[in-house]
Amino acid sequence: MKVKILVFNPFSENTLILYDETGECAIVDPGMISEEENESLDAFIVSEGLKPVKLLQTHLHLDHVFGTGYVAEKYGLAAEAHKDDLPLIELHKDYALNFGIQVNSNPPMPETLLEEGDVVEFGNTKLKVMHIPGHSLGGIVFLNEEEMILISGDVLFQGSVGRSDLPGGNHGQLISGIKKKLMTLDDEVVVYPGHGPATTIGEERRSNPYL
Ligand SMILES: [Zn+2]
Ligand SMILES: [Zn+2]
Repeated sequence: MKVKILVFNPFSENTLILYDETGECAIVDPGMISEEENESLDAFIVSEGLKPVKLLQTHLHLDHVFGTGYVAEKYGLAAEAHKDDLPLIELHKDYALNFGIQVNSNPPMPETLLEEGDVVEFGNTKLKVMHIPGHSLGGIVFLNEEEMILISGDVLFQGSVGRSDLPGGNHGQLISGIKKKLMTLDDEVVVYPGHGPATTIGEERRSNPYL
């Protein structure tokens, strides 16, 4: 599985395109907020000859869903997310306004609900879902066990962890979830977070001051 990182919107959010040798791809957390950003997502898909078959959300904070409506419509996909984040969909426009960002509509409601232990598939790729609340109530991460790749959303970053001062946040719960479910993975697992550069489980085990 290959991972393309596209950085979008004023929050410098990582929109990920996961793809494999079949040409099928999953778009994770589409954060595009302008025509230019939509075009850059589309350009990558066209240049690699990819077929988007999944629209996955690690969580539903505003910076991760600005482009969800666009992807849903353009590629005929329904978003997949954890149920505990669904209330955020209705609040999207108001949250955006709090940051001085005007959006025309709320994102479409996710139609497939993901929970702990689910396996998402596209092409020849399998992603295991793990629920790690504490940054948001419905925060999930996606683990490709075969290729040792983790899509960590805003749960775990290089040298940091997700903030827990937003509604539904709980620092203790976040740290215990990371320790129990992520710090038990192999050192070699490559981590692609929702913001900032990729890292590995080993690097975070050694140097993350929050863990
Ligand atoms: Zn977030
Ligand atoms: Zn974020």
